[in-house]
Amino acid sequence: MDLGEGIRKALSRITGAALVDEAAVKEATKELQRVLITNDVNVRLVVDLCRRIEERALGEKPAAGFGPREHVVKVVYEELEKVLGGEKYSPKIGKQKILLCGLFGSGKTTSFGKLAKFYESKGLKVAGIAGDVHRPAAFEQLQQVAHSVGAGFFGAKGEKDAVKIARDALDKLKDYDVLIYDSAGRSGFDEELARELSEVNNVFRADERFLVVSADVGQVAGKQAVEFDKAVGITGVIITKMDGSGKGGGALSAVSASKSRVAFLASGEKPDALEVFDAKQFVGRLVGFPDLKSLLEKVGELQKEEDLEKALEEGRLDYETFLAQMKAMKKMGPLKGVMQMLGAYDIPKEAMEQSEEKLKKFEAAVYSMTPGERKDPALMKHSTRQARVAKGSGISEKEVKELVKNFENVQKMMKMMKGNRGMMKRLSRMAGGIPGMKM
Ligand code: GDP
Ligand code: MG
Repeated sequence: MDLGEGIRKALSRITGAALVDEAAVKEATKELQRVLITNDVNVRLVVDLCRRIEERALGEKPAAGFGPREHVVKVVYEELEKVLGGEKYSPKIGKQKILLCGLFGSGKTTSFGKLAKFYESKGLKVAGIAGDVHRPAAFEQLQQVAHSVGAGFFGAKGEKDAVKIARDALDKLKDYDVLIYDSAGRSGFDEELARELSEVNNVFRADERFLVVSADVGQVAGKQAVEFDKAVGITGVIITKMDGSGKGGGALSAVSASKSRVAFLASGEKPDALEVFDAKQFVGRLVGFPDLKSLLEKVGELQKEEDLEKALEEGRLDYETFLAQMKAMKKMGPLKGVMQMLGAYDIPKEAMEQSEEKLKKFEAAVYSMTPGERKDPALMKHSTRQARVAKGSGISEKEVKELVKNFENVQKMMKMMKGNRGMMKRLSRMAGGIPGMKM
């Protein structure tokens, strides 16, 4: 199970629970714990995260207008965001020098192509510097990548002195805005690499020193961030191979727990597979919603649906449930067929076949009613109230009367069907099972 799927499953313990109590929250955090640890997130981080979620979910008062489900979902979302990386990174757009460092195969050279494309798209002239003096054919590889993205290139084939390459590149590449130095890696971090990087940087004087790590290494990414930071002072981490690894969450959380911050994510070999890291957006995508607001709207809808389900099951109808029902039915498609499938043939036609436009008008009318009127439909029989609602919602009195008439028809129908519990159950189940509305 991937990270997103696991998180969604954990959240469904909350959104799908009959009662959001301590047991439901504990079940959700247990599930979350499992999926995060599978994703190689550090156990201590996970335990802390879950403790905070439980504390806040059960101890904090929900914000105004938030139901218990929305509250818990919000807490989970916010805490995940903290663990996976905090604030959004904002790359400097302008003239600058960038040093790429990292171990063998972490994706430095590939990332050069992606960064070049990124800065070029901001109108900057980019050039790459072949500073990997250890790996055979590193010169050709960078040259080829530079060519493919239309970037400039500097290298000295056969030159073994990385510092000299840095010095000569600065001299030769004066016409470029963004210089990116692709340094040599090692199979593991060692003193020699640290010395080489700091000597190169003393000459090159990079504004950004990006560490490139592969998501495959999971929480070891945190250790690498600390080591490279000591050597050259890391200003951002690029996590590559987010596409192929089940350990992205581990790499992300470990980097963000170290002093460094995640700057970019790469998720593919192509030059456009790069994004500026934004924890909010990242968590949103994992959970399946682009941001917290739309997530909460979804949860809100779900709660309304459940209210509707309950009302239908109890055969209770007021203007709020009526409106919700009309909207829900609209989504189910041609109503007549649906109702007939359920065994109801004698439903007043006009109550069912509402046009989209009518629905909007009815909606406006219901919103113009006072809460009292919505809950106690008998009040809406009075023509003075109907006139007031018409005025408030900008529709004609005739249409308000029509709404009231429709409401009464459906009310009658529901009374008729009240004896038929099986049918009410089926109806309510359908209203709650509208595709795309459940999480
Ligand atoms: P370097 O040794 O650090 O310069 O690493 P390279 O840039 O040569 O990349 C090593 C391998 O990883 C190459 O085969 C790349 O195509 C591959 N690679 C790099 N970044 C990504 C990525 O984001 N996703 C995937 N799937 N492969 C990547
Ligand atoms: Mg390379």
